[in-house]
Parts: sequence; structure tokens; C-alpha cells
Amino acid sequence: MKILCVGRNYSEHIKELQNEVPENPVIFIKPDNAVLRPGYDFYYPDFSKDIHYELELIVKINNTGKHILPQFAHKYYDEIALGIDFTARDLQNDLKKKGLPWELAKGFDMSAAIGDFVNKSKFEDLQKIEFTLYKNGEKKQLGNTADMIYKIDELIAFMSQYFMFKKGDIVFTGTPAGVGPVQIGDKLEGYIFDQKNLEVLIK
Ligand code: MG
Repeated sequence: MKILCVGRNYSEHIKELQNEVPENPVIFIKPDNAVLRPGYDFYYPDFSKDIHYELELIVKINNTGKHILPQFAHKYYDEIALGIDFTARDLQNDLKKKGLPWELAKGFDMSAAIGDFVNKSKFEDLQKIEFTLYKNGEKKQLGNTADMIYKIDELIAFMSQYFMFKKGDIVFTGTPAGVGPVQIGDKLEGYIFDQKNLEVLIK
């Protein structure tokens, strides 16, 4: 399986990192070894001194598809969850400055924490989902999928022009504002509305 991700999909987050609003979605991939399954701890890697959390709504692909039209994209996923796109911000800033690819900063082992997948039929409107990240009990990110620049179905359609989706692939749909660093000993918790969906301890 592969993990397809979008950067810069919420305008408040674009502002906080002083990035430009992109003309097309900014897409990157994490390999399958990036997955950190529910119940597992995140181990702070030696190569970074500035690991950031980015809480995102994620979608699990349930079928093979290429050149998917936006109006049919909803047929390619049944389940959603929260995920954390762990980012080595120090490496990423360095790579960005040099115009180099982001893999080392974004695709390292355990960099894609995933929560418990929930059937999408539990939600009235997938583009009106509120989600919250708490770090050590303190609210750090509050997002709403209504604020996405590229909606879930548009993202899937765009990505599928370049990458054939297969069953089990995961799409990270971008993070809202409020990203920040983690330290060893931190506890991260993600909520969809008032339901806890994800918990990660930093070791
Ligand atoms: Mg992200």
C-alpha cells in the first residue's frame, strides 16, 4: 500500500508556514513503512530536533482506480479516520530552501500515525467534519473539513491522474493551522467531533 498526501490544503496553515497558495494540490507520498498503527508509540528519530505533528482527516481507498472523476470519487472509499503526518520540520525547511524533495522529512518510519477507521456513513457531510488535536490535554489544532481548499473527492480525482489507487491505500487530506513540535513524553490525542479517534505517545 501507499500513502498519498497533500500539503497546503488549508489557507490558515499556509499562512502560518509562510507558504504560497498553490496553483495545483501539492502532493507527496509516504511509503508503507511510514504507517504507525493504532496503539503503537512514536519513537523520536535521531536525525531531527524539530518533529511536528500535523493532524489530518484520512481516507482509506477500497478499490482500484485510475483517472477517477470527482463525481465518482466517493465510490472509492468507505472509511475515514484521523492521522498524524509527522514532519521533521528542520529537515523539511532545509530541503525546501534547496528545492529538494521532501521524502526524508515526511516519509520516514512511523511518520504516518493512523487512528481507528470509521464508516463514512456515520457522518452527514464529510466536508463538515470538525476535528481537534490535543497535546498533553491542551487543544492545539481545531480544523473543519469545510475549510479544505481541495475537497476530498477533488483530491482523489487529481491524485488518480498520476497514481493508480489500490485497495488499502490511504489519503492524507492536509492539516489545518496550529502545527507544532512534539517532545519525548508528549501525548497526542485526536478527536472527530467529540469522539476520540487517535492517541499517540512520543517515546
Ligand atoms: Mg501534512
